[in-house]
Amino acid sequence: MSRQTPDIPSGFDRRAFLRTAVVGGAAAVAGLAIAPLLTGTAAQAYPWTGTLQQGSTGPDVTELQIRVGGWAADSATKTYVTVDGDFGPATAAAVKRFQTAYGLSATGVVDAGTQTKLNALESTDGSTLHFDWSEFVDHVSGNFEGGKVDAATVKEGVRRLMYRLEAIRVKIGNKPMTVTSGFRSVAHNATIPGAATNSMHLYGVAADLVVSGVSNKTIYQKAETSGFSGLEAYTEDHQHVDLRIEYPYGDQAWWWQSGTV
Ligand code: ZN
Repeated sequence: MSRQTPDIPSGFDRRAFLRTAVVGGAAAVAGLAIAPLLTGTAAQAYPWTGTLQQGSTGPDVTELQIRVGGWAADSATKTYVTVDGDFGPATAAAVKRFQTAYGLSATGVVDAGTQTKLNALESTDGSTLHFDWSEFVDHVSGNFEGGKVDAATVKEGVRRLMYRLEAIRVKIGNKPMTVTSGFRSVAHNATIPGAATNSMHLYGVAADLVVSGVSNKTIYQKAETSGFSGLEAYTEDHQHVDLRIEYPYGDQAWWWQSGTV
Protein backbone atom coordinates (compact mmCIF):
# COMPACT_ATOMS: atom_id res chain seq x y z
CA MET A 1 0.00 0.00 0.00
CA SER A 2 1.40 3.37 -0.89
CA ARG A 3 0.83 6.42 1.19
CA GLN A 4 1.26 10.06 0.45
CA THR A 5 3.96 11.85 2.25
CA PRO A 6 2.01 13.74 4.89
CA ASP A 7 2.23 17.41 5.53
CA ILE A 8 3.06 18.59 8.98
CA PRO A 9 0.19 17.32 11.12
CA SER A 10 -2.48 19.81 12.04
CA GLY A 11 -1.76 19.29 15.72
CA PHE A 12 1.93 19.78 15.18
CA ASP A 13 3.39 22.44 17.39
CA ARG A 14 4.80 25.10 15.13
CA ARG A 15 6.88 26.79 17.79
CA ALA A 16 8.58 23.62 18.94
CA PHE A 17 9.07 22.71 15.33
CA LEU A 18 10.77 26.01 14.67
CA ARG A 19 12.98 25.69 17.71
CA THR A 20 14.20 22.38 16.40
CA ALA A 21 14.51 23.65 12.88
CA VAL A 22 16.64 26.56 14.05
CA VAL A 23 18.86 24.28 16.06
CA GLY A 24 19.30 22.23 12.92
CA GLY A 25 20.24 25.31 10.97
CA ALA A 26 17.32 24.81 8.62
CA ALA A 27 15.60 28.12 9.21
CA ALA A 28 16.40 31.63 10.23
CA VAL A 29 13.78 32.76 12.69
CA ALA A 30 14.02 35.89 14.76
CA GLY A 31 12.05 36.89 17.79
CA LEU A 32 11.42 33.46 19.27
CA ALA A 33 12.68 32.38 22.65
CA ILE A 34 15.35 30.18 21.22
CA ALA A 35 18.53 31.95 22.22
CA PRO A 36 19.65 29.37 24.79
CA LEU A 37 19.34 26.60 22.24
CA LEU A 38 21.13 28.62 19.63
CA THR A 39 24.07 29.36 21.86
CA GLY A 40 24.12 25.94 23.44
CA THR A 41 25.48 27.36 26.68
CA ALA A 42 22.47 27.22 28.97
CA ALA A 43 22.00 23.99 30.91
CA GLN A 44 18.37 24.87 31.50
CA ALA A 45 17.23 25.97 28.15
CA TYR A 46 13.49 26.44 28.20
CA PRO A 47 12.53 29.99 29.27
CA TRP A 48 9.29 29.36 31.14
CA THR A 49 7.43 32.65 31.41
CA GLY A 50 5.51 31.92 34.62
CA THR A 51 3.64 29.40 36.72
CA LEU A 52 1.42 27.06 34.71
CA GLN A 53 -1.74 25.40 35.94
CA GLN A 54 -5.08 24.13 34.71
CA GLY A 55 -6.54 26.75 32.40
CA SER A 56 -3.14 27.95 31.18
CA THR A 57 -2.64 27.97 27.43
CA GLY A 58 0.11 28.70 24.96
CA PRO A 59 3.61 27.65 23.96
CA ASP A 60 4.80 27.02 27.51
CA VAL A 61 1.99 24.51 27.96
CA THR A 62 2.90 22.86 24.67
CA GLU A 63 6.47 22.40 25.87
CA LEU A 64 5.22 21.14 29.23
CA GLN A 65 3.01 18.55 27.55
CA ILE A 66 5.98 17.28 25.56
CA ARG A 67 8.07 16.93 28.70
CA VAL A 68 5.49 15.16 30.87
CA GLY A 69 4.26 12.97 28.02
CA GLY A 70 5.73 9.86 29.61
CA TRP A 71 3.50 10.25 32.65
CA ALA A 72 0.22 9.67 30.84
CA ALA A 73 -1.36 7.06 33.12
CA ASP A 74 -1.10 5.18 36.41
CA SER A 75 -1.88 1.80 34.88
CA ALA A 76 -1.95 0.36 31.36
CA THR A 77 -4.21 2.75 29.51
CA LYS A 78 -4.51 3.60 25.84
CA THR A 79 -4.10 7.30 26.34
CA TYR A 80 -1.49 10.00 25.88
CA VAL A 81 -1.03 13.64 26.83
CA THR A 82 -2.27 15.65 23.87
CA VAL A 83 0.26 18.28 22.83
CA ASP A 84 -2.13 21.14 22.14
CA GLY A 85 -1.05 23.99 24.39
CA ASP A 86 -4.18 23.66 26.50
CA PHE A 87 -3.58 22.74 30.17
CA GLY A 88 -6.51 20.49 31.02
CA PRO A 89 -7.11 17.70 33.57
CA ALA A 90 -5.04 15.12 31.69
CA THR A 91 -2.03 17.44 31.65
CA ALA A 92 -2.51 18.18 35.35
CA ALA A 93 -2.62 14.47 36.15
CA ALA A 94 0.57 13.91 34.17
CA VAL A 95 2.24 16.78 35.98
CA LYS A 96 1.30 15.24 39.33
CA ARG A 97 2.82 11.91 38.34
CA PHE A 98 5.95 13.68 37.16
CA GLN A 99 6.18 15.61 40.41
CA THR A 100 5.79 12.45 42.49
CA ALA A 101 8.42 10.61 40.45
CA TYR A 102 10.91 13.44 40.85
CA GLY A 103 10.38 13.99 44.57
CA LEU A 104 8.20 17.08 44.35
CA SER A 105 4.83 17.76 45.94
CA ALA A 106 2.11 16.52 43.62
CA THR A 107 0.28 19.81 43.21
CA GLY A 108 -0.33 19.71 39.47
CA VAL A 109 0.90 23.29 39.40
CA VAL A 110 4.04 23.92 37.39
CA ASP A 111 5.91 26.37 39.58
CA ALA A 112 9.58 27.31 39.52
CA GLY A 113 10.64 24.14 41.32
CA THR A 114 8.88 21.91 38.83
CA GLN A 115 10.21 23.98 35.94
CA THR A 116 13.73 23.45 37.25
CA LYS A 117 13.17 19.68 37.21
CA LEU A 118 11.72 19.86 33.72
CA ASN A 119 14.72 21.85 32.53
CA ALA A 120 17.17 19.48 34.19
CA LEU A 121 15.93 16.86 31.74
CA GLU A 122 17.11 18.92 28.77
CA SER A 123 20.64 18.85 27.41
CA THR A 124 22.25 21.92 25.92
CA ASP A 125 21.75 20.63 22.39
CA GLY A 126 18.01 20.15 22.86
CA SER A 127 18.15 16.41 23.35
CA THR A 128 17.31 14.97 26.77
CA LEU A 129 19.53 14.19 29.71
CA HIS A 130 19.96 10.47 29.11
CA PHE A 131 19.54 10.29 25.34
CA ASP A 132 21.58 11.79 22.53
CA TRP A 133 20.70 12.67 18.96
CA SER A 134 23.49 10.33 17.85
CA GLU A 135 21.57 7.35 19.22
CA PHE A 136 18.62 8.11 16.96
CA VAL A 137 20.24 9.03 13.65
CA ASP A 138 20.04 6.65 10.73
CA HIS A 139 22.74 4.04 11.22
CA VAL A 140 23.93 4.26 7.61
CA SER A 141 23.82 7.99 6.89
CA GLY A 142 24.42 9.25 10.43
CA ASN A 143 21.74 11.93 10.08
CA PHE A 144 17.99 12.52 9.96
CA GLU A 145 17.74 12.92 6.18
CA GLY A 146 16.00 10.62 3.73
CA GLY A 147 12.96 9.71 5.77
CA LYS A 148 9.31 10.11 4.87
CA VAL A 149 9.26 13.61 6.38
CA ASP A 150 11.93 16.30 6.41
CA ALA A 151 14.84 16.14 8.84
CA ALA A 152 13.54 18.91 11.12
CA THR A 153 10.23 17.11 11.53
CA VAL A 154 12.06 13.87 12.24
CA LYS A 155 14.17 15.60 14.86
CA GLU A 156 11.15 17.04 16.64
CA GLY A 157 9.53 13.59 16.68
CA VAL A 158 12.71 12.15 18.16
CA ARG A 159 12.72 14.87 20.82
CA ARG A 160 9.18 13.99 21.88
CA LEU A 161 10.14 10.34 21.95
CA MET A 162 13.13 11.10 24.16
CA TYR A 163 11.02 12.67 26.89
CA ARG A 164 8.76 9.61 26.99
CA LEU A 165 11.81 7.37 27.15
CA GLU A 166 13.10 9.42 30.09
CA ALA A 167 9.90 8.42 31.91
CA ILE A 168 10.34 4.73 31.10
CA ARG A 169 13.91 5.00 32.33
CA VAL A 170 12.68 6.26 35.69
CA LYS A 171 9.99 3.57 35.85
CA ILE A 172 12.55 0.77 35.40
CA GLY A 173 14.75 2.12 38.18
CA ASN A 174 16.95 4.57 36.30
CA LYS A 175 18.75 1.87 34.36
CA PRO A 176 20.64 2.89 31.22
CA MET A 177 18.68 2.15 28.07
CA THR A 178 20.22 1.32 24.71
CA VAL A 179 18.50 2.51 21.55
CA THR A 180 19.39 -0.05 18.89
CA SER A 181 17.40 1.74 16.19
CA GLY A 182 15.77 5.16 16.09
CA PHE A 183 15.23 7.00 12.82
CA ARG A 184 15.76 5.07 9.59
CA SER A 185 15.96 6.47 6.08
CA VAL A 186 13.71 4.96 3.44
CA ALA A 187 16.78 3.61 1.63
CA HIS A 188 18.17 1.98 4.76
CA ASN A 189 14.82 0.60 5.85
CA ALA A 190 14.40 -1.10 2.48
CA THR A 191 17.50 -3.19 3.13
CA ILE A 192 16.20 -4.55 6.43
CA PRO A 193 14.47 -7.92 6.03
CA GLY A 194 10.89 -7.75 7.22
CA ALA A 195 10.92 -4.02 7.96
CA ALA A 196 7.52 -2.41 7.44
CA THR A 197 7.38 -0.16 4.39
CA ASN A 198 5.53 2.45 6.45
CA SER A 199 7.54 1.88 9.62
CA MET A 200 7.28 4.61 12.24
CA HIS A 201 11.10 4.57 12.22
CA LEU A 202 10.89 6.40 8.87
CA TYR A 203 9.31 9.39 10.63
CA GLY A 204 11.49 9.49 13.75
CA VAL A 205 8.73 8.47 16.13
CA ALA A 206 9.91 4.94 16.95
CA ALA A 207 12.68 3.41 19.01
CA ASP A 208 13.96 -0.11 19.51
CA LEU A 209 15.15 -0.60 23.07
CA VAL A 210 17.39 -3.01 24.89
CA VAL A 211 18.02 -2.73 28.62
CA SER A 212 20.50 -4.98 30.36
CA GLY A 213 18.83 -6.84 33.21
CA VAL A 214 15.31 -5.70 32.30
CA SER A 215 12.97 -7.89 30.26
CA ASN A 216 11.20 -6.63 27.18
CA LYS A 217 7.94 -7.45 28.92
CA THR A 218 8.79 -5.03 31.71
CA ILE A 219 9.68 -2.30 29.22
CA TYR A 220 6.43 -3.03 27.38
CA GLN A 221 4.46 -2.69 30.61
CA LYS A 222 6.11 0.60 31.51
CA ALA A 223 5.45 1.89 28.01
CA GLU A 224 1.75 1.13 28.53
CA THR A 225 1.60 3.95 31.08
CA SER A 226 3.87 6.30 29.14
CA GLY A 227 1.77 7.40 26.18
CA PHE A 228 3.10 4.94 23.62
CA SER A 229 0.51 3.96 21.03
CA GLY A 230 2.65 1.43 19.17
CA LEU A 231 4.21 -1.51 21.00
CA GLU A 232 5.63 -4.49 19.17
CA ALA A 233 5.29 -7.89 20.88
CA TYR A 234 7.71 -8.23 23.79
CA THR A 235 8.93 -11.57 22.41
CA GLU A 236 11.40 -9.95 19.99
CA ASP A 237 15.11 -9.40 20.78
CA HIS A 238 14.39 -5.74 21.45
CA GLN A 239 11.34 -3.74 22.50
CA HIS A 240 9.90 -1.51 19.78
CA VAL A 241 7.90 1.50 20.96
CA ASP A 242 6.34 4.28 18.87
CA LEU A 243 3.98 7.24 18.86
CA ARG A 244 1.90 6.27 15.82
CA ILE A 245 -1.46 7.51 17.03
CA GLU A 246 -0.32 11.12 17.43
CA TYR A 247 0.92 11.48 13.89
CA PRO A 248 -1.11 11.01 10.71
CA TYR A 249 1.47 8.61 9.35
CA GLY A 250 0.12 5.18 10.08
CA ASP A 251 -3.17 3.39 10.42
CA GLN A 252 -4.32 5.64 13.27
CA ALA A 253 -5.12 2.64 15.42
CA TRP A 254 -3.54 1.59 18.69
CA TRP A 255 -1.10 -1.26 18.20
CA TRP A 256 -0.18 -3.08 21.38
CA GLN A 257 0.82 -6.32 19.75
CA SER A 258 1.00 -8.34 22.96
CA GLY A 259 -2.27 -6.85 24.15
CA THR A 260 -2.55 -5.22 27.55
CA VAL A 261 -0.13 -6.93 29.89
ZN1 ZN B 1 11.31 -0.89 15.70
